Amino acid sequence: MQAGDIDQLADSAAENDALNILPWVTMPENGETDGAGLEDTYPMEPDHEACYRALSTRDARFDGRFFTAVRTTRIYCRPICPARAPKRENVTFFTAASAAQEAGYRPCLRCRPESSPDLGVWRGTSNTVSRALTLIGEGALDGEAVDALAERLGVGERQLRRLFRQHLGASPFAVAQTRRILFAKQLIIETTMPMAEVALAAGFNSIRRFNATFQTLFQRPPRELRRSRLADADQPGAEGITLKLPYAPPYDWDAMIDFLGARAIRGIEAVDGRRCYRRSIALDGAQGVIRVEPDDREPALRVSIRFPHVNALAGIVRRVRRVFDLSADPLGIGEYLGRDPLLAPLVAERPGLRVPGAWDGFEVAIRAILGQQITVVAAVNLAAKLVAEYGEPLRPLYGNGLTHIFPTPERIAQAHLPGMPAARAQALSAVAAAALADPNLFSPSQTLEDATAKLRSIRGLGEWTAQYIAMRVLREPDALPAADIGLLRALTHAGESRPGTADVIARAEAWRPWRAYAAQHLWTMDARTSRANTRTNLKDNVDAHPRSASDPVPGSPRDHDRDIASHP
Ligand SMILES: [Zn+2]
Repeated sequence: MQAGDIDQLADSAAENDALNILPWVTMPENGETDGAGLEDTYPMEPDHEACYRALSTRDARFDGRFFTAVRTTRIYCRPICPARAPKRENVTFFTAASAAQEAGYRPCLRCRPESSPDLGVWRGTSNTVSRALTLIGEGALDGEAVDALAERLGVGERQLRRLFRQHLGASPFAVAQTRRILFAKQLIIETTMPMAEVALAAGFNSIRRFNATFQTLFQRPPRELRRSRLADADQPGAEGITLKLPYAPPYDWDAMIDFLGARAIRGIEAVDGRRCYRRSIALDGAQGVIRVEPDDREPALRVSIRFPHVNALAGIVRRVRRVFDLSADPLGIGEYLGRDPLLAPLVAERPGLRVPGAWDGFEVAIRAILGQQITVVAAVNLAAKLVAEYGEPLRPLYGNGLTHIFPTPERIAQAHLPGMPAARAQALSAVAAAALADPNLFSPSQTLEDATAKLRSIRGLGEWTAQYIAMRVLREPDALPAADIGLLRALTHAGESRPGTADVIARAEAWRPWRAYAAQHLWTMDARTSRANTRTNLKDNVDAHPRSASDPVPGSPRDHDRDIASHP
């Protein structure tokens, strides 16, 4: 973005690239700037003038892109705060709530920064920061120190602190603390959970510390922040809570629910009338269910969670956000991808398209193996058999059509499905053994390359599956299953022969660091074209469904360009 564009910003609010108030978010050529030295030049604060104009008009499109901190009141707000706009000279702008909080501001009780869309505007510029935030969201700093987190990410502690300072303007510790406070505040306001459980759920080590933190920030005990006239219901978390999970609009719910619905495994997942997604979950040996549907009034999804342990709540919410890709910035990504003439019409047609995530890495890996050389429908049926045979029965209390939880690695290690080729059965066992040996197998690691190399080292998992897992589980926005038959088909020009994997990779250079989103657009188009073909000619049915072949064996170049499975 040029300096002149900033003047244009308030005047032409319809311009999508005006949303890019952070000049440093302009994408670098190679998509991975960490270590490239570029971050040294990144400014820490968003453009003051542009932000002030956005807040003056309460422009909802800027929600999640910055926070306004008011020096006179020591409060920080979302751009859409209904309170009277503060004077220009009294405000400081921050890109992250944690930065405002670390600078000594407290969250506004009216606009509730905890319900802003959590956009992650740094996503795509610093993958190390993105991965660190994922791990912090998993509770990495609730018990362990910053140096242990840095080590998992393969950077020095000082380097990690420097990256946080540059991209978020806050320390890793402040980010973790702010997340705890904001999640606690959401639970206080949106649920009737008792305060002791709120403290536990939000990751506070003691209720005394929780009370003291809120007393310092808000000059009152946490209980007094509860708006509901209902007193604490004295219900355990197991009875279920419902929370709103905001996103930055637009959101293509139809595309998301169609994707999940087509792959729903009987017994563990259900889609009710394109309106609601339900599934069974299991964490640390305990069972539960979640239910997700769009909110009627706000740009948010509503998640209802029934789970016996409140200290798992934050992790469950984080996973739901991952499945429904709630932190994506679709306008920013679309503006970038739309520069490619091939993608421009797809982005224009589906501006709110997200990359569906996955609940669990192990589950996706197993599904990918089951999907080799068969259609999506056949793979889903095979998975349902596996679930019925090896999944633990779900407590009837949770029922409503859901009967099992997905089989554990221990159970899969012994699985034998009749009629399954020996190679595939071995691949199932190999993934199960790897998951048992390395609990962080499906957690973010140092780079996309590291993560996929680790997955490829498992027998039966090739490059396609590794990239697919990186895309849906690790939420790597630049992951690309380049050998995918759907992508190859989408990139075939009329009258020409189908391109090879190398052609796809070369073509996709222009999409970095958002190749996963480009792939999702092409798949969505391809699925629709395929459905149309099915309707007109039943004989095309076989080709109409994404076909799959086994993943290439690592190091086997001859297999490298074979048509590989489409998304399981
Ligand atoms: Zn406010």
